[in-house]
Amino acid sequence: MFAYLDHAATTPVCAAAVQAAAEEMTAQFGNPSAQCAFGRAAAQRLGEYRAAVAAALGCEAGEICFTSCGTEGDNWAVAAAADHGRRRGRHIITTAIEHAAVLEPIKALERKGYTVTRLKPDRQGRIRPEELAAALGEETVLVSVMLVNNELGTIQPVAGCARMVKAFCPDILFHTDAVQGFLKIPFTPAELGVDLLTVSGHKIRAPKGVGAQYIRRGLKLPPLLRGGGQEGGLRSGTEATAQIAALAAACRDWTAHAPAYRAHMASLKEYTLNELCANVPGIEIVSAGEAPHICAVSLPGYPSEMLVRALGDFGICVSSGSACHKGRPSHVLAALDLPKRTRMGVLRLSFGPDSTYEEAGALIAALKEIQAGRVGLS
Ligand code: PLP
Repeated sequence: MFAYLDHAATTPVCAAAVQAAAEEMTAQFGNPSAQCAFGRAAAQRLGEYRAAVAAALGCEAGEICFTSCGTEGDNWAVAAAADHGRRRGRHIITTAIEHAAVLEPIKALERKGYTVTRLKPDRQGRIRPEELAAALGEETVLVSVMLVNNELGTIQPVAGCARMVKAFCPDILFHTDAVQGFLKIPFTPAELGVDLLTVSGHKIRAPKGVGAQYIRRGLKLPPLLRGGGQEGGLRSGTEATAQIAALAAACRDWTAHAPAYRAHMASLKEYTLNELCANVPGIEIVSAGEAPHICAVSLPGYPSEMLVRALGDFGICVSSGSACHKGRPSHVLAALDLPKRTRMGVLRLSFGPDSTYEEAGALIAALKEIQAGRVGLS
């Protein structure tokens, strides 16, 4: 049986999104910047798509800028915040467990002379707000703390952190990478109190190649791309209308079913963890994850890269950590100070609205076969 338990890496595209993209690519192919009737119709639809994404996020349509992916949004937020705070100073605070899309642009700034504080999480993968408070200084220009960790499923105390930062100095920009949190847990940017927030389409059943950046109303940022002035002058380039239409459709679909989708993923995850503990001797729960769709387990003594391959031979897709860190040891797991045997055997399991109990059962059966030695680990 084929089982896909890797929804944090990417998700299948939902039927509504496929249909919306197909329509934009065929009957409705106009360029939203063109003056002709096709162009004007496309511009109107683009406005509707923006409103749909804004409604899913709980913000104003004017606060949404379409991007190509989460990585673009994260990179932009870091660079824009550095530019915004250039007269204030050159200190950035982030966490040791951010996605590379945040860590790498921050590292690039460090090479240019910025000072960086990377907050270490506790064993549960959560940062301590008091450590953030202690790190804030006169030179701080940006605090970037992710909402849901992609390897552990832990939720960071973003709202409390943002409140503290703004009380210290309203000029410090607060960014959150909400790529794994968007629609999976309820929040709005205003409730979180953030200035910048990044989401990505392919984690919520829209296609790859589209994302959205929330930019708080009133915040002036330098453009990411200069040219024809699309996206309010912030990101020039003809809008990817098919992907954006699909993103809007996926947002509408998810929002309409959010409580049911979240409840299903949470119960399936709980069931899987319980069954794993009952049936696979030696399995350890590394993180049960507060977000409904992600958890991490370990089978000490079984290197995770090999386990992923062996499970693949059974038709089961899981991840040995973030898909973006293929082949490299995970900085997230390293930050948890796990015993080496535990860290080496970590599997990330992640679920979607259409994941099934049969898929969970297939995973458990395959792990039992592997443990019984009936399958070679290559
Ligand atoms: N941030 C987090 C937390 C992620 O999990 C990912 C992708 O896995 C990204 C950013 C990058 O998003 P994208 O793949 O859309 O570039």
